[in-house]
Amino acid sequence: MKFSQLANPRILEQPTYQPGRPIEEVAKEQGIDPGDICKLASNENPWGASKAARDAARDALDDVHRYPDGSSLVLREKLAKHHKLSPDQFIIGNGSNEIIELIGHVFLNEEDEVLFGEYAFIVYKLVSLLMGAKPVCAPMPGLRHDLQQMKKLITERTKLVFLPSPNNPTGTSNTEDEIFSFVRDLPDHIIFCLDEAYAEYLEHSPDLRTLLQEGKKVMGLRTFSKIYGLAGLRIGYGYGSVELIKLLQQARQPFNANAIALAAATAALDDQAWVEECRQKNNAGMQQLQDACDQLNLPWIPSDANFLLIKIGDGQKAFHELQALGVIARPMPQGLEEYIRISIGTTQENEIAISAIKKVLPILKNPA
Ligand SMILES: *Cc1c(COP(=O)(O)O)cnc(C)c1O
Repeated sequence: MKFSQLANPRILEQPTYQPGRPIEEVAKEQGIDPGDICKLASNENPWGASKAARDAARDALDDVHRYPDGSSLVLREKLAKHHKLSPDQFIIGNGSNEIIELIGHVFLNEEDEVLFGEYAFIVYKLVSLLMGAKPVCAPMPGLRHDLQQMKKLITERTKLVFLPSPNNPTGTSNTEDEIFSFVRDLPDHIIFCLDEAYAEYLEHSPDLRTLLQEGKKVMGLRTFSKIYGLAGLRIGYGYGSVELIKLLQQARQPFNANAIALAAATAALDDQAWVEECRQKNNAGMQQLQDACDQLNLPWIPSDANFLLIKIGDGQKAFHELQALGVIARPMPQGLEEYIRISIGTTQENEIAISAIKKVLPILKNPA
């Protein structure tokens, strides 16, 4: 008997997440020195984590024979101060992706529907399918979440709504007003999850506390992988009502967040000056990339995050040609085939990406 015959049938059909390609792998495949590869594929912070966070991670190594604090209390207390909530309103995860999965474990059954936009972050769909629930995709005219359209797709079976704002891969976001009126109209059997992975890049991120005070079933998801520059450590968090967080805590593994990640995240949160510096550098890099696209007559989708969706023509081909030049970008799924997503890098990385795009454009136009 094959293992696959023993497996949960759902697993056999489960699509897998396609991550940005790693530097080492591309370097080896293309015969390029890893130092010459420019990875702009995973929306990482190109300036790295704050020095305080890196020092804290190094210090934590000395105690690595001990289990981490299973309740992540120190970080939750720090987050409580940062967000002006209480520590029992936070759950720490092995990346915010883990929290998305926990939400699935706690709330989803086979008869449930999960609503999100057709070009929303792909993990909502993956988790819905894994739990046997039904993903329902709302149209996104102009590649933006249209909350009025989404509202029309709500049924008795809708259990969860995910809204990433800013969204990955489109970079588009929704205003606080749009989000508040959408949530205030939701029936009581629906939980609204605002995925705020890129919230720190916004001038003003919606204040979910207002909705929490009104007793709405909302939660926020945040990560240390993006502006905080700790993607490799895997740490993120969710926040919401005490009642909701308690249920999520019940579903997680005892030591889901590791000690090094906890120490680094705690220090990173304290260094808001670094966050502000990265935000400003990102704005400049965004301008640099947009200006270059304008000069090349390449349309792009206005982005509120640290990446840009560029309409390049044949996205797959562009991805491969750029990769041969040492630039790792991100090809897009069905519906967005004409686009390529490029993360904002350092000024120099952006320069390299721009000249690679220039070289690739004629090849895209004239299929050899
Ligand atoms: C990157 C990203 C995440 C965060 O992933 P982690 O698991 O915290 O690394 C969550 N949501 C969106 C929309 C993202 O782009």
